[in-house]
Amino acid sequence: MSEINIPYYLKSKLERLNLATTKLIRQHGYLEIYSQLKLAFPSINYQALYDLYCLAQQSLCYTLAPEKQAELRAEFKAMTPRHIWLKPDTIKHFLTAAEEQAQLALQDNEVPIGAVIVHQEQIIARGYNRTRRDNDIMAHAEIVAILAAQQHLQNYRLSECDLYITVEPCLMCSGAIINSRIKRVIFGACEPKTGAYISQHQVFNNKKTNHHTEVIGPIDQNHYSRLISTFFQNKS
Ligand SMILES: [Zn+2]
Repeated sequence: MSEINIPYYLKSKLERLNLATTKLIRQHGYLEIYSQLKLAFPSINYQALYDLYCLAQQSLCYTLAPEKQAELRAEFKAMTPRHIWLKPDTIKHFLTAAEEQAQLALQDNEVPIGAVIVHQEQIIARGYNRTRRDNDIMAHAEIVAILAAQQHLQNYRLSECDLYITVEPCLMCSGAIINSRIKRVIFGACEPKTGAYISQHQVFNNKKTNHHTEVIGPIDQNHYSRLISTFFQNKS
């Protein structure tokens, strides 16, 4: 049986998020993907949800009954309070702050990854990769920022905090993120070799280990992967 193609209007948007295959839609689920799209493209409507559902099922969308459409809308509404209210401007603002941290790593000749932690709309902690400088494989941007936030709040749980990172977190950092109960992770670009959200592992999808953290990203693959790919090109 030949695959049902992703409608063009949807494909161009999914490509921006690096999610433009039926396999990825199945892997993440139509609701999750629709949430991500809604965040990146607020004007998108329920037709996209119906299309994503049909792509996951490999059924033709024009045969979708009105009752099923209503069911899908109800399923999506039951997901609140999802990250829909996190405005694109807010994401851009804090990811830019994370990028500034990545630039500091670059100045130190470290792999340029940066992170900030936001609590009550304020940055309370910053971190950039410093593994070489510290001789410490744990000194990834996210871990540095998490440790600083825990000190700042005098609390090992960061359940009211959002973490913004320039690239998808690795397995080690994802463990720290889940254990510190960070509310949301927003990342700029996928990291194909080490990413633990989509690329190499899908640790945040495991409901047995993760009840707390939502992940939003990649926000803009081309933009946020540029710094890191330039760094490695210059090394080779
Ligand atoms: Zn890491």
